[in-house]
Amino acid sequence: MAATEARIIRLLMELRRQGISDTRTLSAIERVPRDRFVADPFLDQAYENRALPIACGQTVSQPLIVGMMTQALEVTDRMKVLEVGTGSGYQAAVLAQLCRRVYTIERHKSLLVAAEARFRSLRIHNITSKVGDGARGWPEQAPFERIIVTAAAHDIPPLLVEQLQVGGIMVLPLGDTEQDLVRVVRTGDGIDIQHLGGVRFVPLVEGVPEE
Ligand code: SAH
Repeated sequence: MAATEARIIRLLMELRRQGISDTRTLSAIERVPRDRFVADPFLDQAYENRALPIACGQTVSQPLIVGMMTQALEVTDRMKVLEVGTGSGYQAAVLAQLCRRVYTIERHKSLLVAAEARFRSLRIHNITSKVGDGARGWPEQAPFERIIVTAAAHDIPPLLVEQLQVGGIMVLPLGDTEQDLVRVVRTGDGIDIQHLGGVRFVPLVEGVPEE
């Protein structure tokens, strides 16, 4: 559809203007049809630069935030990436364009089932997913070269640092109402932290709900 293409191009131009300069990140965003990840009532806004509601009171992140986080992760094509907070699956699908395999964890089973159906229908085969408390990570698959958390934690989850390879990068929003996007690099004897700016995410919640 020509109209959709024009909207995608407009969105990419806006992301560039707002500081997303990494061409691999931009082309991954260009390739993943965001309209397949949003709920029907919001279809006409799929390529607007805004967060949109999904089921279970959650949101699919704003494209600018997806771009910032993806760019800050510096993913390359042989890497294993862990995502906490699958949600719609959009961020995982973007990362899947750039790395070897994405492992993604979601605490709401119904969201995960819907995201897995999207991956199948888009023929994205390098995403492995499960229901669980993502703050515990995925020890059987660790270490990860990159970790992205798409829900806001109060503190950096220690089990995730443990599962990050030395030299690896983790990007996550930290804080309660006022949140800051941070980029953590695991060093030989600890972590280095860099602040990327203010953001708003849904909270990281402990445990898995009954559904
Ligand atoms: N990356 C998503 C954004 C989803 S919003 C996307 O691209 O659509 C954040 C998601 O994190 C929500 O779906 C929420 O249910 C999930 N979440 C919150 N706490 C969690 C936890 N402890 N473990 C796993 N998922 C969690």
